[in-house]
Amino acid sequence: MGVRDRIPRMMARAASRAEAHAERERARTIIARWNAALAAGPDLPLWSPSLRGALVAGTPWLEVLCPACATIGTVDLRRIDRHPEAAVASLVLGLSCSRCGPAAPMPRLLGLHTMAPTSGR
Ligand SMILES: [Zn+2]
Repeated sequence: MGVRDRIPRMMARAASRAEAHAERERARTIIARWNAALAAGPDLPLWSPSLRGALVAGTPWLEVLCPACATIGTVDLRRIDRHPEAAVASLVLGLSCSRCGPAAPMPRLLGLHTMAPTSGR
């Protein structure tokens, strides 16, 4: 390390930051499109972002609605032990409402958020 390699190292760090920023912006675009598709209707879109995409976008909070009792819950995706490339929508089977018991209907995914709705979204 010395003066001769300082500029290349600075350029490499800047390129790395630029790549991370670009990836985060791509992920944010994807999450925004998915949230819009969820808001457009009751049916799940034909695609779903990955858990990694949600985390890269900075939207780790998944909001879920029980259609039977209208309870809305949130899931912190950072606490989910799944492969990072697993689809967010693949979590839906494990999110059935505990209030409604074993006959609970399939929960409806409402969207991904930067903060938990209860903490002042
Ligand atoms: Zn319920």
